[in-house]
Amino acid sequence: MLTPSQRQLLRIISESGPLSRTEMAQMLGLSKAAMSGLARDLIDLGMLHETDTVYGQGRPSVRLDLYPECAFFIGVSLLEEPAPMILSDLNGKIIARGSIPLSRDPAVVAEAIAQALPDLLDSHPDAREKLAGIGIALSGFVDETQANCVQSTLLNWQDVPLARIVQERCGIETFIENDAKAVAVSEKLFGSARDIQNFSVVTLGDGIGCAHFIDGKLYRGNHGGAGEIAHCTIEPGGSPCRCGKRGCLDTVASMKAVREMARAEGFSCDTLVELETEASKGNAAAIRILHRAGSALGLAIANLIQMNDPGLILITHVEGSFDGLFGTVLKQAVEANVLPRYAGQTPVRVKRVDGDIWARGAASIAAHKFLIGPHTN
Ligand SMILES: [Zn+2]
Repeated sequence: MLTPSQRQLLRIISESGPLSRTEMAQMLGLSKAAMSGLARDLIDLGMLHETDTVYGQGRPSVRLDLYPECAFFIGVSLLEEPAPMILSDLNGKIIARGSIPLSRDPAVVAEAIAQALPDLLDSHPDAREKLAGIGIALSGFVDETQANCVQSTLLNWQDVPLARIVQERCGIETFIENDAKAVAVSEKLFGSARDIQNFSVVTLGDGIGCAHFIDGKLYRGNHGGAGEIAHCTIEPGGSPCRCGKRGCLDTVASMKAVREMARAEGFSCDTLVELETEASKGNAAAIRILHRAGSALGLAIANLIQMNDPGLILITHVEGSFDGLFGTVLKQAVEANVLPRYAGQTPVRVKRVDGDIWARGAASIAAHKFLIGPHTN
């Protein structure tokens, strides 16, 4: 069991990257002697290792970094059939991939995870001994303990204590999280938001997800529903949404909505790229659809910037097609709808992601808990 100061040091290195003992002592407010002892203990535990030597003013100093294989994590994404299940190290590197059948019965999910575990753990000689947690990402609301699914339409769940059920079956500490929030944690731990305290992630796919880090912490709101921009009304009185309202962002800018609008116009396009190609040839209907979707998402993001003033908006997207009309209109809509003093101040970055995004996010929930401690959010 790690002490609070050991966890604090691991967290600082996780956010900053490799640091010298002098830098760590300054950041933690410790004497050099106390810092050396703390670092030595973590090296002995196999959590830290010496990486490189930096030469500046004064004596050269050796930097320390997290030892990526000091702990392993399982990530499961309950978002598709079959449900991807991965083994990752502390750096988010995927060591092995597997899958389980998707089920709406929590006990069946737990059993499937338990059955799939041995194969994944066999893929690395240290994984079994150093397995530190299981993370599960799902579509829906999760409570602040990251143990209970409050509500999931996709899984037809209400108040399901999934983490406890899986933990009891597998004997490994387990946490669950909403899918977009899991991606935000993954970006904070392993990705492009590592050193950013305030940022929002927008996951653009068949649906639109969103999650925020505020002051370095995942912000979940009062009911776990913070950041649900998908169901912000963007076109009052617009098309009906699966949530029961009308004119939600999801009905205009999700990739599912774009495909449906394209089909209604007679296109057989399945991807944004194909529709972009049509628009670049001057097809008025393709231009109209991309313009409508890009404007809507841009307006929602502008409102997000206006409300939270984040240091980064990160849009994750499997197709990564933002060089065309959709991306241009989106960025124009952001700039046109924020206060002039905010215009151009908030980086809006697009990150092309692969199909591992949700399972990697799930594993990062367990890794995050490992670093910050199981009872901290
Ligand atoms: Zn809705």
